[in-house]
Amino acid sequence: MNTSDFIALEKQYNAHNYKPLDVVLERGQGIWVWDVEGRRYLDFLSAYSAVNQGHAHPRILKALVEQASRLPLTSRAFRNDQLPLLAQELCEMTGCEMMLPMNTGAEAVETALKAARKWGYQVKGVPENQAEIIACAGNFHGRTISIISFSTEQQYREGFGPYTPGFVTIPYGDAAALEAAITPNTVAFVVEPIQGEGGVIIPQEGYLRQVREICTRHNVLLITDEIQTGLGRTGRLFAADWEGVRADMVTIGKALSGGFYPVSAVLSSREILGVFKPGDHGSTFGGNPLAAAVARESLKVLAEEGLIANAATQGEYLLGRLRRVESEHIKEVRGRGLLIGVELTREAGGARRFCEALQKEGLLCKETHETVIRFAPPLVISREDIDWAMERIEPILMMA
Ligand SMILES: *Cc1c(COP(=O)(O)O)cnc(C)c1O
Repeated sequence: MNTSDFIALEKQYNAHNYKPLDVVLERGQGIWVWDVEGRRYLDFLSAYSAVNQGHAHPRILKALVEQASRLPLTSRAFRNDQLPLLAQELCEMTGCEMMLPMNTGAEAVETALKAARKWGYQVKGVPENQAEIIACAGNFHGRTISIISFSTEQQYREGFGPYTPGFVTIPYGDAAALEAAITPNTVAFVVEPIQGEGGVIIPQEGYLRQVREICTRHNVLLITDEIQTGLGRTGRLFAADWEGVRADMVTIGKALSGGFYPVSAVLSSREILGVFKPGDHGSTFGGNPLAAAVARESLKVLAEEGLIANAATQGEYLLGRLRRVESEHIKEVRGRGLLIGVELTREAGGARRFCEALQKEGLLCKETHETVIRFAPPLVISREDIDWAMERIEPILMMA
C-alpha cells in the first residue's frame, strides 16, 4: 500500500474531523519520522508538543514494554505500585502538594474546572449553582462540550449547543479586563501562559504576575493550562516560570508521556484537590500503572537529559535565525524556547502552502489559524539539526 491507498482508506472509513498534510508516517526516532514511501522528515510539530522527548525514546519505550508485560491496568478499584511513585515524583519536581491523574488534556481541564467549582461552593461560599469561571478569548483548552462552551472560535462551537453555562470570556493579555469581570461568584480564571493553538500568542511581560495578584486579592483560583507550554517546551519547566508565577492549579498532558500514551494530570494543593471525595470524580484509565510508569520515565528523561535547558538554548538560536530571514511574507516572528510562531502577512496566501512546501523539502510543520506557522521541534534537537532545518525553511519563506 502506498500513500494514496492509505489516504483513500482513511477518507472512506474515518470521520473527516481533521485536515492532515498528505504524508503517511510509519516510523519515528528522535526528531525524525519516515513515511510509507521511505522518505525522511524532520518533525517540527512534535505532535503538538506531546513528543518533547523525541519519537520512540528508548528509555520510555523500555519502561512502557516492561510495565505492559507486568501489569497494564488495575482500574482505581484497586491500588497499583506505580501511581504513588508518579504522584510523589511529579509533586517533588513541580513543587505541588498533590496531583490528580487523567488521560487526555481536555479531561485534565475538565477536572480543574470541577475542582474549582466545588472549591467555590465548599471553601469560598459561593451560592449553589452560581459559580462563574473566567477564560480568555482565543483560548484552546480541548474539545468537550463544556470546554467549547467558552471557546471563542466559531468553528469549535457551531452546531454543538446548547452550551454549558457559568463561563465568561475576556480579552487575552488584558489584566484590567480580568479585574472588571470578577464578581463575588467567580471561582477561577483559566489561562494559557502562551496561547499555542491561538497562534503562539505571548502576552506582555508582567501579565501573569498581574493576573496572579488580582486572583489572590479576589480569592479566585488561577488555573494555568500548561498542556502545550509545560514540561520544558518554552525553556522552563512551566511557561509561567518565566514570570515566577505559581498557579493554584496547573493542567499538564501531552509530553507527560513522551507521546507514548495519553496521560494528563492536574497539579495543585491539598486544600483544592481535597474537595474531591471518593466517588466524586474519576476515570477507568486515569492513573493506571502503564500510564504512571510511562510518565515517570518521561519526566526522568526530561530532567536527566537536560531537555529544558536545551529548549532554551536551541529555541533562542532558532528564533534568532528566523528573525534574520528577510522575507516580505513575514509579519512577525515570536516565540519562547522551542515554541515559535511565524506570522505571515495577509498577502502571503495562507500558512498552509508554506507547510506543504516544507513537507516536500523534508520538514513537517502545521499552520495554526490561517496565517501562523508553528515551529515546535522535539526538545532533543541540536544546533546542527536546526541549521539543517533553516537551510530548508529560509528559501521556502522567501518563495513567491
Ligand atoms: C492540546 C491541548 C489541550 C487538549 O489536550 P487533548 O489531549 O487534545 O485533550 C488543552 N489545552 C491546551 C493548551 C492544549 O494545547
